[in-house]
Amino acid sequence: MSQIYDRVALIGLGLIASSMFWAMKRSGLAGEVTGFAPSPETRVTARDIGLCDRVCDTMAEAVEGADLVVLCVPVGVMGKVAAELAPMLKTGATVSDVGSVKAEVISTVGPHLPDGVHFVPAHPIAGTEHSGPTSGFAELFDNRWCLLVPPEGTDADAVARLRGLWEGMGSYVDEMDAEHHDRVLAVTSHAPHLIAYTMVGVADDLRRVTDSEVIKYSAAGFRDFTRIAASDPTMWRDVFLSNKDATLEILGRFTEELFALQRAIRQGDGDHLHDYFTRTREIRRNIVEAGQDTDAPNFGRGGTK
Ligand code: NAP
Repeated sequence: MSQIYDRVALIGLGLIASSMFWAMKRSGLAGEVTGFAPSPETRVTARDIGLCDRVCDTMAEAVEGADLVVLCVPVGVMGKVAAELAPMLKTGATVSDVGSVKAEVISTVGPHLPDGVHFVPAHPIAGTEHSGPTSGFAELFDNRWCLLVPPEGTDADAVARLRGLWEGMGSYVDEMDAEHHDRVLAVTSHAPHLIAYTMVGVADDLRRVTDSEVIKYSAAGFRDFTRIAASDPTMWRDVFLSNKDATLEILGRFTEELFALQRAIRQGDGDHLHDYFTRTREIRRNIVEAGQDTDAPNFGRGGTK
């Protein structure tokens, strides 16, 4: 695959940035990749593992001369980071981000960017519960979707180029507007995370009563909630604070459905439960057919106790 950008700067060196670096290198998509993270520990680790061609001690150094600058930081600090790096951007550069929420990022980052710089927000729908510079891997984006959310009037060439980068890193790419993105992600990611956090919190309370049984018998379903609930607290705090309306709307709907299922259980309405579970099973089948998960038993895990 051919080189798309001469110089790429990754701001923040966690799961997504490190995966982007390895994926870009795998396919020769960028000439030089620079990186910056505020904590010295992260920069030392990045240098030790060869993450980035050049790890810089200042944001200015990383951004200087970059054709593409990608903000790979928690949603809550995107605006602050954009304000800091805006004066250093070269004319004609593209700024992008990987934040899980788009309307808030566009409204906090956009106003800081100077004329002559293209802003193409993006969100790779791929991740794990791990974070930090050692958590990334080149295959993270393979066969996963990346959503581009260019504000109206964004330069078409800049969008096409970023699309080429994400496709080169293994993703399928779609475009949509920010409000729609935030509603879709509230359903597919944000509300499920909150529900997982809640379920694990409830079980933690129960553990005091049942000793270690919650952990011992976790393969019965609870374990999959615990994986999601292990996700980075800073990232997820910011996601909920910045996608407030869409998440609250979905949680309202969720609560209504939960009440309906509670009533069906109380009234012994087996038909209601059976119909509901048949419908949800169909959704799972569609996800597997779309290549977004495996139908191997137990999510492809080995037979652990
Ligand atoms: P991460 O592994 O926790 O890494 C975050 C990075 O941001 C760290 O290197 C951190 O630096 C840096 N950072 C924090 N505050 C900063 C600041 N003020 N200025 C510069 N850098 C700063 O996070 P991640 O999982 O890669 O997530 C990054 C973004 O991707 C988030 O916006 C998230 O919403 C989005 N995203 C995440 C996932 C996922 O599954 N994790 C999926 C899709 C999108 P230090 O190491 O020095 O603290």
